[in-house]
Amino acid sequence: MIIILQPDIGDKSPEFREVLAYLANKRDIATRVHHVVGALRTVTEIYLIGDTHALDQAEIECLPGVERVVRISEDYRVVGRHRDDGRPTGFEYNGVRFDQDNLNVFAGLCAVDVPKHVETMMKAVRDHGLACTRMGAYKPRTSPYAFQGHGKNCLPWVFELAGKYGIKVISMEITHDSHLHEIREALEKTGKPTGVMLQIGTRNTQNFELLKCVGRQREFPVLLKRGFGITLEESLNAAEYVASEGNHMIVFGLRGMKTNMGDPHRNFVDFSHVPVVKRLTRMPVCIDPSHSVGSREHAPDGVLDVFHVTAQGVIAGANMILVDFHPAPQQALVDGPQALLMEELPYFLEDVAIARAAYEKRRSLIQRFTRRNRS
Ligand code: PEP
Ligand code: MN
Repeated sequence: MIIILQPDIGDKSPEFREVLAYLANKRDIATRVHHVVGALRTVTEIYLIGDTHALDQAEIECLPGVERVVRISEDYRVVGRHRDDGRPTGFEYNGVRFDQDNLNVFAGLCAVDVPKHVETMMKAVRDHGLACTRMGAYKPRTSPYAFQGHGKNCLPWVFELAGKYGIKVISMEITHDSHLHEIREALEKTGKPTGVMLQIGTRNTQNFELLKCVGRQREFPVLLKRGFGITLEESLNAAEYVASEGNHMIVFGLRGMKTNMGDPHRNFVDFSHVPVVKRLTRMPVCIDPSHSVGSREHAPDGVLDVFHVTAQGVIAGANMILVDFHPAPQQALVDGPQALLMEELPYFLEDVAIARAAYEKRRSLIQRFTRRNRS
């Protein structure tokens, strides 16, 4: 059960204290308080944990300061959608809106290498009207002898370049909680020229301590990638770990599943789960066509597989695209073979716009169809 308080009733107000005092008299009910910070208002939600069946919903709704009480299923209490829930999806971060209705493109380098490549990438992003990119500083690699990323040493100059080109959000994977502190420190040292979305990679989807750590902080949003060898339910529970610690700014990322059934793609493309995740949860859904496909192969129609699967995800309503580009893929230190070329960026964006327009048309079609059948 969730008690949603009226806007701007925070945990210092007498109404809040009265609700908690009421709950304190109920046996075996624990509470957890969440503040949902929106663009216009902050909403306080009290999650009740324990056997809530005996609680009187109408009585709680009459308490001062209470806007609504929602009975929720056990699954995905915070990130999930619940009947008659009516809670909004998404969040705003550093001036960029992330929700289940819009679409943001994060085109960038799989791994930070040299300033020239990072600058070329960021300039292209800016020149094409985008404000987000991806830049890997900490790379989880299969081999301990492979390039592990430049780590904290590259952060200051990467952030400064981001500021120079008006980049608002960089998606950057972290593999350890110390990386979060390093990112925070580098941002502070450089005067916060940009924002960072903390990426939890597929190898760390069930690193519960890391999930709790990014969940406890409220400064940075989190892109949680689906685990490549676990069920969707397990990955959604991983998102719930982050949210249950208090951070609700979560985007859920599909990046393909590890199985030979998907050959010759690097991973089995799972973008048919875009609408499923949107139905089960309130999280915006990201697709990563680069790590799903893993190559620059194209179909006989000339269209690259990366473009085809991107379109498939976007036409199904994806809200974010994380995609690898590189100015000189043969010099890339990680994942060069799957990188798109700089000159392909405008073509990629136009292709995405076609798929997005088709999705929007499909959405109005179902609305018209439903209205007609109701009347
Ligand atoms: C990445 O996006 O750089 C990455 C390593 O992705 P994943 O965790 O999906 O493999
Ligand atoms: Mn990669």
